[in-house]
Amino acid sequence: MTQPWKEGTATPLAGHRVVIVEDDRTMAMVAESICRKLGARTTVVCADGAAAAEALAAPGEATDIVLLDMMLGAGDGIAALRGLDATRLTAEIIPVSASDPRVLDAAVRLLAGRGFRVHSPIAKPLTADKLARALDAAPHHCTLGHAAEGQPSAERLAAAIAADEIVPWFQPQRCARTGRIISVEVLARWADADRGLLTPAWFIPGLEQSGLIAPMTERLLDQAASALARLGAAALPLGLSINISAPTLADPDLPERLEAIITAHGLAPRQVTFEITESAVLANPLLLLEGTARLRLHGFGLAIDDFGTGWSSLDQLRTLPFTELKIDRSFVSGAPADPARRVILASTVTMAHGLGLTVVAEGVETEAERTLLAALGVDLIQGWLSGRPTDADALAALLDAERASQRHSAPHTRPDGPSERT
Ligand code: C2E
Ligand code: CA
Ligand code: CA
Repeated sequence: MTQPWKEGTATPLAGHRVVIVEDDRTMAMVAESICRKLGARTTVVCADGAAAAEALAAPGEATDIVLLDMMLGAGDGIAALRGLDATRLTAEIIPVSASDPRVLDAAVRLLAGRGFRVHSPIAKPLTADKLARALDAAPHHCTLGHAAEGQPSAERLAAAIAADEIVPWFQPQRCARTGRIISVEVLARWADADRGLLTPAWFIPGLEQSGLIAPMTERLLDQAASALARLGAAALPLGLSINISAPTLADPDLPERLEAIITAHGLAPRQVTFEITESAVLANPLLLLEGTARLRLHGFGLAIDDFGTGWSSLDQLRTLPFTELKIDRSFVSGAPADPARRVILASTVTMAHGLGLTVVAEGVETEAERTLLAALGVDLIQGWLSGRPTDADALAALLDAERASQRHSAPHTRPDGPSERT
């Protein structure tokens, strides 16, 4: 977790040029002094959008950070950025405002959609601690299209699968009550010799388009199950969740093949949950029903991923035999300070439990979010707060540390897991 900023301890703005867009002179002076404290090299104060545009376009003076007051007298922060070309602006934008969080949220999404690198807003008054925390988090950035540009060819992807260059990383899912690791989600990473470790946005769309996603998923499951088996007693009771694109389910022999893969490593189907991802929707709903029903008959768990966005609708929840619901990160992030998200979370948990589903919250980054989700009755917590995705070796170290600290407690299983419902 991020440590609170302490006087003299950290200078996250070291060497940076900061443009402060703020129409209130006193607040601008406070912001300047905070930026200096955090190490800023230069601060430029602009009272309106026109001055901001000029400061950001200054030749030879690249701006690193823009502190953007969203209400600027007669204007506003969105208008202030309207004339700027996001692709030429390297600065990260941090909105600062006292406005309604839902309005701010819409503004952030709008700016990210226009290609700006924009952080979650800071609620006024600005403090050094809030600014240091904001700087510590990655900015939102709409990468639509960017990942597609560098998509590798089908031949290259097929070779990567054959050579096991696409490898499983693991992110812990912890019991919301006890904090113990109950299971892990497998996330694909491509260890590309030239480009380093690539995240799924770079290769999953290509795999889906070229029909290679099913063989990749099988190889990944095989490697993940083998890694868990190698970790031995500490890892074997764990649940294993893995993403599966909907079209993969159309293959009639899939359930048998998946079962053979995991039993070969000494795992049981009830330990494995397939998370159906939205990215590619299967055109034929009966095939999807058949695929999901057969996975359940073989004893596997089935999660509806990214619930609340796009494909993951109430209708899918009603018609398909899910055992688990994963609440999308967009409802979790910032929920403690946002009444609308809290209402959505509370009713989603009630609904899911009413349907007998295990509820997993994704993208949990702060202790405040974790506390809220635990109070709302969420079963499992997944996110950077309780563990970033890691390779098998780091997972082994994490499990060792956990085993050492909990040697004398009782064994634990996934709450209300698929095994208890079959
Ligand atoms: P997902 O299934 O929703 O996976 C969660 C994503 O959120 C992961 O990104 C993970 O690294 C990231 N994440 C986890 N905790 C946090 C957090 O606290 N904050 C933030 N900001 N992010 C967090 P990743 O690994 O880049 O995966 C992206 C997506 O790619 C996955 O989303 C999934 O839809 C897809 N994907 C990954 N592996 C596979 C696969 O083997 N097969 C298929 N079909 N899709 C995959
Ligand atoms: Ca997932
Ligand atoms: Ca998800």
